[in-house]
Amino acid sequence: MLISYRKNLDRIIFLSMMSFFVLPALATVYQALAYGFSLQCLAIVISTQIMFVMDTVEVNMRFHSQQAAYEKARYEAEHDGMTGLLNKEAGWKRMRKYFNCMDSRDEAMLMFVDIDDFKTINDTYGHTVGDFWIREVASQLRHIYRQDDIICRYGGDEFLALVRNTASEHVLKTTLGMFFQQLARTSEQHGQNVHCSVGVCRIAATRIRRNTDEGNGEDIRGEVDFDECVKQADLALYETKRSNKGKFTVYNYPPPSQNPQISAPRSGLKV
Ligand code: GH3
Ligand code: MG
Repeated sequence: MLISYRKNLDRIIFLSMMSFFVLPALATVYQALAYGFSLQCLAIVISTQIMFVMDTVEVNMRFHSQQAAYEKARYEAEHDGMTGLLNKEAGWKRMRKYFNCMDSRDEAMLMFVDIDDFKTINDTYGHTVGDFWIREVASQLRHIYRQDDIICRYGGDEFLALVRNTASEHVLKTTLGMFFQQLARTSEQHGQNVHCSVGVCRIAATRIRRNTDEGNGEDIRGEVDFDECVKQADLALYETKRSNKGKFTVYNYPPPSQNPQISAPRSGLKV
């Protein structure tokens, strides 16, 4: 055990623990050769070492069970019990962290997904059926997007998803197309009319260029405002609910009016 845990121990601790086995063993050999066996001494040494091993094994087991309990508590604190997705706080934190590393040359898509008329579903079929649909939408979103995209249950019948590293219209249309299709198929199987509205904030790469004194263009970094992107996705969802229920609306970030690529003056651009 000591040898297998060697990497986790300070060198000095490892050596002192090893000495507890090695020194008595050497002393026993020497004593046997020089004086003959002392059964009493041997018995004391062996029983002390058995106590030491048992104590270490127990500490080790306690450490592992505490570690497992900690992991379980952390998982439960970060995940939604019903869907297994990240909860709002954990999802929000991870998305913000991702945005903090983004600059204006990176791409992503942030989207709100909301089940339409969910209150009516609950009222018509009961809350157990409502719960089934929340789990179903969560599982379909998880299935469509990649492992490292971030999806969370935002609350009630609403989900927030961050698709990383792409703002491709093709990817957006294909994935949402699959999502709507699968939802329609499951709805048909259950004889219930369930659909979702989606609001997307598409964060497209904008290569902001500053004109240098030498007349060459130089790429400069601009930050991506997470709160603004959430707001745009929310507004897009509102727009879908208002005029395009069961489909999706895309708003772009930055909006064309603020896109520095279009409006950058030849000098004096501050980012
Ligand atoms: P809209 O089309 O505008 O989205 O209307 P809606 O009825 O879907 O949305 P609304 O926000 O009015 O209602 C959401 C409902 O979701 C209200 C709440 O009772 C229900 N709800 C929230 N959490 C759960 C849950 O965990 N399980 C179930 N079954 N229902 C839930
Ligand atoms: Mg709803």
